[in-house]
Amino acid sequence: MKWVVQGWRRWLAAWVLVGVVVAAAGAKHAAARRGHDEVHPTVEYTFGERIRFVARFSGERALQQVTLFYRPGGSWQGTLHAAMTLAPDGTATFVHDLKKSPLPPFSTIFYWFRVRRSDGTAYTTPSFSFVLTDNRFAWQHLSEGPFEVWWHEGDDVLAQQVVDAAAAGLARAENLWLAPAPEHVRIYVYADPRVLQQTLGAKGWVAGHASPAYGALFLALPPGPLQESETRRLVPHELAHDLLYRQVGDAGYHNLPVWLNEGLASLTELRPNPDYAVALKRAAAQDRLLPLASLCDTFPTDASDALLAYAEATSFTAFLLHRYGRNALHTLVAAYGQGVDCESGVQHVLGRSLWRLNRDWEAATFHRGWWYPIWEKARPWVGVFAVLLASLFLSAWLARRPTPSPDTP
Ligand SMILES: [Zn+2]
Repeated sequence: MKWVVQGWRRWLAAWVLVGVVVAAAGAKHAAARRGHDEVHPTVEYTFGERIRFVARFSGERALQQVTLFYRPGGSWQGTLHAAMTLAPDGTATFVHDLKKSPLPPFSTIFYWFRVRRSDGTAYTTPSFSFVLTDNRFAWQHLSEGPFEVWWHEGDDVLAQQVVDAAAAGLARAENLWLAPAPEHVRIYVYADPRVLQQTLGAKGWVAGHASPAYGALFLALPPGPLQESETRRLVPHELAHDLLYRQVGDAGYHNLPVWLNEGLASLTELRPNPDYAVALKRAAAQDRLLPLASLCDTFPTDASDALLAYAEATSFTAFLLHRYGRNALHTLVAAYGQGVDCESGVQHVLGRSLWRLNRDWEAATFHRGWWYPIWEKARPWVGVFAVLLASLFLSAWLARRPTPSPDTP
């Protein structure tokens, strides 16, 4: 609630102060030579609320319709468009509602106009751009090596801890699976996970952190006694996702099995999650481990199963690293990045099916014999087999029993 009050104050201040004014492209006669009117675009926004696009056209001829096209850079799918409201003086306006349709924070938004004049002629303007900063907060900034940290609450110590965790996480990722060295990583630290989730328009993002598809890392590190340990966990975890994304690209990243993506990210954390070992032990004792094949495309949404899925992915990936080494894991990531499916990737690179690897991992981790998964698979059929066998014996016994001779009078 405290944040809401502060947020509104900042919101109002930001609304007054904000405004990214982009100079019109080209000189007036240059525009005229290309058949364009001279265009003067202005963008004002309050992050999380709205973006107001305004364009003034200085041509002689009357305008009939102006359409705005806009899209964030990066891996954003598709281009947004809207018919602008035209004023008699030739000013066109459109307001984008960021509450209904959030756009990625700190992304570069490219926009341009398609103009139709009343005399039937039409043209498309050059493209303009602005950076959609989250201007509800006063951001501070620290840069060290490839890492650039932005934060809005707390002092320099927090930023330094983030940079240190990122540097240690990078060294760990390079060591674990020969992750690529990034040139530049932007890290945005929010103080409140709920604000971050709302900022990103995220639904069900458990830890309140972002996808690397946005081209930056977004973390929620609330002030308090857990902040430092959470920094050492979350920063390397998100960095690992970013490095995997850099290694195999957008399409390749989305083809990685979730168990491998989350397994490598969790292994990169500097502070292992103690809940994982507990969840694994309990699930193994209760015979309710999730098959690895069920963790290829997605993780369960139920909180306790999701924790178990992370625990299994981490333990299984550690097992693969221990058995096959980092070169093999690097090649495995690259193979999935090329588009092979979950089962074929391990078969091609490690020479073993996922089911066999699952069996080997369980045997090594829970000290189960090689026969255990076979028994598990066979168990439902054992009852059926027993009933069949019993009925066979019964019919054999009945058949061999001497038939009583009919009574003779
Ligand atoms: Zn993750």
